[in-house]
Amino acid sequence: MSTVEAGKVVSIEFVLRDEKGEELDRTPEGQQLHYLHGHHAIVPGLEEALTGKSVGDRIEVRVPPEKAYGPKRKVKLQEIMRSKFPADAVVEKGARFFAEGPDGRPMAIWVAKVQGKSIYVTPEHPLAGLTLHYEATVTAIRDATDDEKAHGHAHGAHGHADH
Ligand code: ZN
Repeated sequence: MSTVEAGKVVSIEFVLRDEKGEELDRTPEGQQLHYLHGHHAIVPGLEEALTGKSVGDRIEVRVPPEKAYGPKRKVKLQEIMRSKFPADAVVEKGARFFAEGPDGRPMAIWVAKVQGKSIYVTPEHPLAGLTLHYEATVTAIRDATDDEKAHGHAHGAHGHADH
């Protein structure tokens, strides 16, 4: 019987809550998250808790910031004019965009504040500094394909790649 380990594509259903029990995220009804285990596709604390589990196993884990999205840093917000964003984009607090990072590679930024035409963004994940509570159930485990191993990510439940 296969268990969750590096090189497996694992499917889970999960609910994520903060310390006060407020729900932050969950897999939509009837859907699962598929990810390649051992490649930090999910936060390290959740990945660790799932290691060695089998299909049908349910876990509940409290993940401190260090094993989730890192501690809250005092990052200075950067102002970007609304006109720099795509005209049809929904620019609201918490929305994620990609900007060109210092090394020329795409870098995730999040909208922290919207003030008229001024959009304030941060490179810090919105869940940074939070202790997270995950409840997760393993719904499927399969071997990763060679393509997936080479790419370092899962290609969907049945291994169909579109790239
Ligand atoms: Zn790929």
